[in-house]
Amino acid sequence: MDELEHKFEVEVKTAEKSQKLSEQAKDELRTSGMMDEKGKIKLKGVSPKMLKRMKQEFVDCPVLKSEIGFIQCFVCPNFQSRVIGKVLCKGALLK
Ligand code: SF4
Repeated sequence: MDELEHKFEVEVKTAEKSQKLSEQAKDELRTSGMMDEKGKIKLKGVSPKMLKRMKQEFVDCPVLKSEIGFIQCFVCPNFQSRVIGKVLCKGALLK
């Protein structure tokens, strides 16, 4: 299998509390049908238990140079995939 082209491997960490979503991430989730009108997130193939865990996860984003909730990272244009506790990030500049 070919290795995916990515610039960074970013470690996924877990916080004690759920991470807040930015308005931009919410918009992204809504337009891609992953969030309903009530703001409830629904990801295909992700159980409520897993989703709860995902909400508590965050990454030290090397592009935005700050801590970003995993859900937000998941919908980021740079997000490529997630492998064993790491996000493969394309590392392109974000507006
Ligand atoms: S995918 Fe986006 S949010 Fe996640 S680490 Fe890369 S630039 Fe940051």
